[in-house]
Amino acid sequence: MKTIGLLGGMSWESSALYYRLVNQLVQEQLGGLHSARCIMASIDFADIEALQSTGQWDVAGDLLADTALGLEAAGADMIVLCTNTMHKVSDVIAEAVEIPLLHLADVTAQAVIAAGLKTVGLLGTAFTMEQDFYLDRIAGHGLEILIPEAEQRHEVHRVIYEELVRGVISEDSRNHFVDIIAELAGRGAEGIILGCTEIELLISQEASPLPVFATTQLHAEAAVRLALED
Ligand code: GLU
Repeated sequence: MKTIGLLGGMSWESSALYYRLVNQLVQEQLGGLHSARCIMASIDFADIEALQSTGQWDVAGDLLADTALGLEAAGADMIVLCTNTMHKVSDVIAEAVEIPLLHLADVTAQAVIAAGLKTVGLLGTAFTMEQDFYLDRIAGHGLEILIPEAEQRHEVHRVIYEELVRGVISEDSRNHFVDIIAELAGRGAEGIILGCTEIELLISQEASPLPVFATTQLHAEAAVRLALED
């Protein structure tokens, strides 16, 4: 089994889910007492948020690249960057290391295509919903993406930073997200990408009016597939 390098802490709420999922998935596939071989480097999210909100993406990229080098030196066979947003600097990280970086937008797009869908809604941080690094990467797979209106994007972003990364799960926010998903469905979305690794802590498939593509789950599945491949 290969060793999964989890580059996490963004936030630790979703990194904890990654850790649980990779272990559960290996256990399901290998049975017995098997669990995942993995190493996690967990960043202080306050540092990352300060760099995001002041636009210091270069500094953030260098910090994450250094951390990825540490994972590689410690024996990781792949880098799993446990956040959609910080894929804005995924190229810097991928270039710093020799081992592969499992790009979350590629993994997600492949799952949408495998489900036979073409047009999907996207929920995530404002960076993810509005900037090219994510939208173009998904669109590069031939998919069409719909994002919520400006006011709704503002609210989704607020809930991520003020609630989800702090472990707050609110019924009001869940209802609001469901309304936004329903509106995207009305505009033609056939599925919804939960494009922030904490959103699946709030929205389950049962709660959603559209098929969900939960990025933490999909990323963990892809990492385990790679870890168990010959
Ligand atoms: N975990 C989130 C994401 O997937 C947001 C936290 C961050 O900004 O990294 O985008």
